[in-house]
Amino acid sequence: MEAAGADVRLLGSDPDRPNLVAASAAQGHAPPLLLHAHADVVPTDGQHWTHPPFEGSIIDGHVWGRGAIDMLGSLAMSGHRADPAARRGRRAGRRRPARPLARRERPAARSAPAHLVRQHPELFDGIAYGVGEDGGAVLSCLPGRVHPIVVAEKRACWTRLTVRGRGGHASRQGWSGTSMGKLGRLLTRLEDGRLPAHVTPALDRMLDALAAAADEPLAGRLRDLRDPEGKAEIPYDLLPEADAVYLDSVLRHTVNATIVRTPEKINMLPSEFSVDLDGRILPGDWTVDDFRTELRELDRPRRRPRTPA
Ligand SMILES: [Zn+2]
Repeated sequence: MEAAGADVRLLGSDPDRPNLVAASAAQGHAPPLLLHAHADVVPTDGQHWTHPPFEGSIIDGHVWGRGAIDMLGSLAMSGHRADPAARRGRRAGRRRPARPLARRERPAARSAPAHLVRQHPELFDGIAYGVGEDGGAVLSCLPGRVHPIVVAEKRACWTRLTVRGRGGHASRQGWSGTSMGKLGRLLTRLEDGRLPAHVTPALDRMLDALAAAADEPLAGRLRDLRDPEGKAEIPYDLLPEADAVYLDSVLRHTVNATIVRTPEKINMLPSEFSVDLDGRILPGDWTVDDFRTELRELDRPRRRPRTPA
């Protein structure tokens, strides 16, 4: 980026996790455009990969690798975009200055981008628009390839839950109300249950556009999802599973149990241990308390037995 004439700086509170900030000279045709991306990726431990995740091999025309979509591909495009030489290759005078930032996946308060916002607010002067996550994710439910444009993002709401129950020696059979039994019911509730549906303005427009492009009966089912009462079923029967899961997840706050921490004693039923929940709150005015209220409702035992699907 320096070679391309950008003003490049490393800024951050943690020297091991800095932000790379590059500013290209303004041409005065439009307000500055913010391009932001993160360069780190989540680990691959315990996951099955069809192709090695860190080789970046091109297979059938696609780059395979951890982070190719989220979001090294976008980062590469932003870097290219920031290169004035690349821009001059297009029609001169139509291009806006670009400011790519590398940011990191972390809770907001301690994150590298939060440092920029708090300590270097001047970097954002005059910026009217930003382009960030994500790109390349595909919905395959419609003819051709549909790439949704992300216009809003959920907030993480990571929660630690304490599970308490009857402890005892593991050589005895017949204890009731054990914490392990509660854990089993909790995990089943989290997988089978759903937090209530909320149709955000962005989702409403997306469903409208998808329905307009889809054939019946899918079009009608997508339109039904726009009902603010949120009673319509996600069309798992009509969609590829990944697309149905995507719609299921953008329609509500989501929560998944990801880490269980028990005392490591094989011969004791633990009377207490913790479960970490990865919760995500929809963009909007919902608070952490709103999320927890919905979560408590989900965790309540069902009054009626489930009718089999
Ligand atoms: Zn990401």
